[in-house]
Amino acid sequence: MTVITRFAPSPTGTLHVGNIRTALHNWLLAKKSGGRFLLRIDDTDQARSREEYVEAIRADLTWLGLHPEREERQSGRFAIYQAAFDKLVAAGRLYRCYETSQELELKRKVLLGRGLPPIYDRGALKLSEADHAAKAAAGEQPHWRFLLDHEAPIEWMDGIRGPQHFDPRQMSDPVVRRADGSWLYMLPSVIDDIEMGVTDVLRGEDHVSNTATQVQMFTALDAPVPRFAHEALLTGAEGKLSKRLGSLGVSEMREAGIEPEALIALLARLGTSDPVDPALDAGALAESFDLARFGRAPARFDDAELARVNAAVIHRLPFARVADRLPAGVDEAAWEAIRPNLSAVAEAADWWSVVTGPIAAQAFDAETRPFLDQAAGVAAALDWAEDPWGALTGALKEATGRNGKALFLPLRQALTGMDHGPDMKALLPLIGRDEALRRLG
Ligand code: GLU
Repeated sequence: MTVITRFAPSPTGTLHVGNIRTALHNWLLAKKSGGRFLLRIDDTDQARSREEYVEAIRADLTWLGLHPEREERQSGRFAIYQAAFDKLVAAGRLYRCYETSQELELKRKVLLGRGLPPIYDRGALKLSEADHAAKAAAGEQPHWRFLLDHEAPIEWMDGIRGPQHFDPRQMSDPVVRRADGSWLYMLPSVIDDIEMGVTDVLRGEDHVSNTATQVQMFTALDAPVPRFAHEALLTGAEGKLSKRLGSLGVSEMREAGIEPEALIALLARLGTSDPVDPALDAGALAESFDLARFGRAPARFDDAELARVNAAVIHRLPFARVADRLPAGVDEAAWEAIRPNLSAVAEAADWWSVVTGPIAAQAFDAETRPFLDQAAGVAAALDWAEDPWGALTGALKEATGRNGKALFLPLRQALTGMDHGPDMKALLPLIGRDEALRRLG
């Protein structure tokens, strides 16, 4: 059976690392077995959902390279929900309730005060048809609850948490529809998962208790229960997600110079003890993706680790992937020379201006000045077509007896105005003969 996964964000904000991890893991799970990854926009809450967030979610997934094979919006599917709702009403699995939130709160307090769990008492189940008619005549609209089957223990084998067991008698019948007819998340999600053929629901562990009730909803709708897996939540290095990258949206990460490949490489492994593989191809990450590798302890998201993975990814990025983001004049050789020194692609411009100049004039001491003059003489006589840096330093070493730092540092300083930077062997041909002679002289 083809694996079908889905990412189901509510468009009430932009995606942050936690959501991106959920989206990515669903994508990886599908790709691993040649399956399909779907996007479902959970916009039943029309007051909080915003079109701009729907667009931002799509743009973020595109930037990350996580392309869904199908996209659906819950707001366009109310007729499908109504049909399933009618079926459940006919089967006696949904019932009408009228308690106000104050009344429910009071019931909770009474139970808690008596040391009992605050489970809904199913008071509305005792209402007769005459009671309902009287409520309707008084203009009262019911909200609807799903009747849990108390005789059917709820069990599933969670892909991450292992065997799960819930006693439905210890749970409140969930409200699935409000008095104004609007839908709560719980039932539409199940109806969609059935209709879209979702085989694997992978989401955060904040949904475990939802799963307990949803398992019975699948059964009530005569559908097989999909495989469920719940991931431990992400925390920051200091306990909660940091105010820096951890709370940033995708577009801010992008502005901060984070590459999608880096985010993907890190989030594919975060929560496992496997090393991060700064792979450029997410397909390769999918092959080794395995839910069994994920632990139950919260996974730590660390800005510094993301920065390290980002640098490792940039150091491997081929020219073709970055060409349109580089300053004019930077060709493949220049990119490969500069790349190992970058922690963000945008920094390429700084190193490129070192190549093209002008660089700040430097003052050298009485010992170094003649050495540089000598270097200028050697450089003028070199064959620049081959390896000018090797030839220059080889000749100077022989002529002056200098080696190591005493040989290389003054040359680097004179040629680049810096104490460190890209490999001079690659940089010097880019600077070129005329400019190099000017800088040495
Ligand atoms: N819209 C829900 C959320 O963002 C979806 C949960 C689910 O994956 O079923 O939490």
